[in-house]
Amino acid sequence: MVDIPPHIDQTEMYRDQIERNVKKQINRFRNAARGLTPRSCPICGYYGMFSVFGQPPRFDARCGKCNALERHRLLYLYCTRTGFLQPEHELLHFAPEAPLSRFIKDSVGTYDTADISPGRKMTHTINIEDTDLPDAVYDRILCSHVLEHVDDAKALSELHRLLRPGGAAMIMTPIVEGWAETYENANVDGPVQRNLHFGQADHVRMYGRDLRDRIRAAGFELSEYTAVEPDVLTYGLMRGETLFIATKRG
Ligand SMILES: [Zn+2]
Repeated sequence: MVDIPPHIDQTEMYRDQIERNVKKQINRFRNAARGLTPRSCPICGYYGMFSVFGQPPRFDARCGKCNALERHRLLYLYCTRTGFLQPEHELLHFAPEAPLSRFIKDSVGTYDTADISPGRKMTHTINIEDTDLPDAVYDRILCSHVLEHVDDAKALSELHRLLRPGGAAMIMTPIVEGWAETYENANVDGPVQRNLHFGQADHVRMYGRDLRDRIRAAGFELSEYTAVEPDVLTYGLMRGETLFIATKRG
């Protein structure tokens, strides 16, 4: 367990001020920075400047037309280049991302969506840790930027259970490849502390490269698709960002 340095702990006292300042600075930066060079969006065909996105802000991140981010473009390239999605597939998309929805829906036979928040119009309003859905009903699952919010052992075990033998899940999450071990800390509590420690107010850990062990521990075989040149330059991808493909043994 890592102790929290006292001066960091005091940020709770200045929480409102910090949040206001951060928002102001990010907005100022976004408005000023329109990108470094034109990029292509493989999803919608847009060619031009992408906008800044994220905290800390990233250049050339968001497509100027369909709002796709780097991770959406990487996933699109993988799927279209490998034929990963097929018309006979039944797919479940957790916490569905709008820039990907149409492409995925057009690529598979059944497109189901799932989220924990009841307000959103979803096929299933469920908790990924315990879905109540039957065993082995999907060929493909998309679970991007979800695991860092939840009990990942439970969630990965649910993904494995929901997949048919031979089926596969696409998994993405923030990861620090320089860390051998994932950083979790029971001393970290509340949105301000989680933001400081894990990079976002509702994240509960920051993965190291042992994410792979966690995926395998749920019973999956693992392969990876990583953003490399010339795709990084052409499509505005994040260097080294990795899509994990977790396959249930047939
Ligand atoms: Zn686009």
